[in-house]
Amino acid sequence: MTITMPSDCKYSVDTELVHVEGNEDQYHASSVPIYQSATFKQPCLEHMGKFDYTRSGNPTRSVLQVHLAKLMKAKHAFVTSNGMSALDMILRCCKSNSHVVAGNDLYGGSDRLLSFNQRQYGFKVDNVDTSDLAAFEAALRPDTNLVLIESPTNPRISICDIRAIVKITRSKAKDALLVMDNTMLSPVLCNPLDFGYDIVYESATKYLSGHHDLMGGVIATKSDEIAKSVFFNINAMGAAMAPFECFLLLRGIKTMGLRVERAQQNAIEIAKFLKSKGLQVNFPGLDPDAKSTAIFYSFARGPGAVMSVFTGDVEVSKTIVNTTKLFEISVSFGAVNSLISMPAYMSHASIKKEVRDARGLSEDLIRICVGIENVDDLKADLENALAQANFKQN
Ligand SMILES: *Cc1c(COP(=O)(O)O)cnc(C)c1O
Repeated sequence: MTITMPSDCKYSVDTELVHVEGNEDQYHASSVPIYQSATFKQPCLEHMGKFDYTRSGNPTRSVLQVHLAKLMKAKHAFVTSNGMSALDMILRCCKSNSHVVAGNDLYGGSDRLLSFNQRQYGFKVDNVDTSDLAAFEAALRPDTNLVLIESPTNPRISICDIRAIVKITRSKAKDALLVMDNTMLSPVLCNPLDFGYDIVYESATKYLSGHHDLMGGVIATKSDEIAKSVFFNINAMGAAMAPFECFLLLRGIKTMGLRVERAQQNAIEIAKFLKSKGLQVNFPGLDPDAKSTAIFYSFARGPGAVMSVFTGDVEVSKTIVNTTKLFEISVSFGAVNSLISMPAYMSHASIKKEVRDARGLSEDLIRICVGIENVDDLKADLENALAQANFKQN
């Protein structure tokens, strides 16, 4: 499958990912150097020079930010120490007592940060099922300040119509900042700014870096005004990404097209395989007739490589997770290697059981994040685990 960028990009995404512009290194180094320097000398007292202090700006970071702005179809991009600090920098653009409408199946850390803002700054946060557009519309107020969504959500893989969210928000709460967390799809598969979002942010710890060797976040926008506020916050709070991480991220991004394409191909095959074994599989587009599939493909170029399955039996799930060898037990996703986890015991353990149950995060739920290994090896690993667990098709 060839993934092409929407028409206003000069080249296809695979080409854009590899070609990094704006490297002003004096020796024309092919790889952007790490400017591991906190300070930069001024040419004289009267002139500042392009960089002075790495909290405010750094040459390695600048090249990365220009590269990401291009890939995310933005005018401005900023990299931060991790995904959560990216969201924090965005939320700090909001006044005290802001009204926020957010998804009800957000990343756990995002929930925690919103709760903190609720306690600390009087935010009023309404969490809604964003796949239910009527419920979403009902939650909006004329003075809503911020809308925060994810699609698909993780690990439930619930899909919301991100284009419809824009339309509804603009008609009912025209001043609200529209924000999307695009970590699950990455810029290879979705560009929310094209659909009218004000800000898109991602955890660069996942697909952007791809090797679980760094933590990072990225914030992208087309608006000069938003960029000004975000940069103020990053500089004031000191949340920018360090030069070495910028270098690693520049390196990781080059192979993102290949990585996402291969992981996705593997994931499609594994999702079908698990479904054929009788498991209930949550994966975008698995059922070609479903309405959600049409909605999904109205904004995404592919399903990605994260899925979840219900076995109907916690013990069966535990045995599967403990038996796989290639699928390592770990939180996170987006790296080259395959991972497996049980959200109720790991990433989502901090959520109260009643809330988890209401969100459909039952204890038998297994999350599978597919990497770029040979797909037959991956299938054999899962086949063996299902046999060990004595999983029987209902
Ligand atoms: C991991 C993740 C984050 C947080 O990013 P960190 O880099 O871990 O701080 C935010 N949103 C989603 C959807 C994530 O998966």
